[in-house]
Amino acid sequence: MKLIALPAFSDNYIWLLHDDHHALVVDPGEGAPVRQWLQQHPHVQLDTILVTHHHADHTGGVADLVSATQARVLAPAMEPLPLASTGVQEGDLIDWHGLNLKVLDVPGHTAGHVAFWGQPAGQDPVLFCGDTLFSGGCGRLFEGTPAQMLDSLDRLAALPGDTRVCCAHEYTLSNLKFALAVDPDNTALQAYARSCHALRDQGLPTLPVALSTEQAINPFLRSRSPSVATAVKNRDAQALDDIATFAALRAWKNEFR
Ligand SMILES: [Zn+2]
Ligand SMILES: [Zn+2]
Repeated sequence: MKLIALPAFSDNYIWLLHDDHHALVVDPGEGAPVRQWLQQHPHVQLDTILVTHHHADHTGGVADLVSATQARVLAPAMEPLPLASTGVQEGDLIDWHGLNLKVLDVPGHTAGHVAFWGQPAGQDPVLFCGDTLFSGGCGRLFEGTPAQMLDSLDRLAALPGDTRVCCAHEYTLSNLKFALAVDPDNTALQAYARSCHALRDQGLPTLPVALSTEQAINPFLRSRSPSVATAVKNRDAQALDDIATFAALRAWKNEFR
């Protein structure tokens, strides 16, 4: 299986997985980048579209691609969606040409957000996590609570460390600026920031990223670590438990420039 990040809008990625015959895409906010790729690979048939949540930058291209390809659409059962789809939720398994994709409910950014995890034969696993987990950060809490988001991130963090995390936005450098303000002595974070700057300087994506890297550098996966929890508490003395600490960390990021 080959994994490709198709850039869309200013900072979205539409993830495309293919086996030289069939393709699936995740969160096509616009159809054109996918149609263009399909034109360049005429022997590959798009047959499946996965959607993580209802926001337009993740769904805007679905109708266009369905009318061009008749692909099936699998989307969160608990989200209000402006398109015809088969609803999926926690516990569902999607069989795609021998690859089993597990559906995980990860509410927080939106109320019914889902993620998809699977392991192609002989390869590291992949995680399509939409706007829940970003490299060095996490999604804004538009519809869910801090407790829900912390629980969702805990569940993603418990996946195998070699999982390739496929986030829907290239937010890495701005997230790392914040992460370094929170956790300045984290040497893994410092080294990761240098490598991401080098990639962006060459116009390359920073994604996918190994989950084990995120576990070492992402303050939103490390809000219980002494260094992150202390930094949050120094700023907000009310951050006395895990959920309050996570909430204060997310609020700090919202204000951070
Ligand atoms: Zn979103
Ligand atoms: Zn988005």
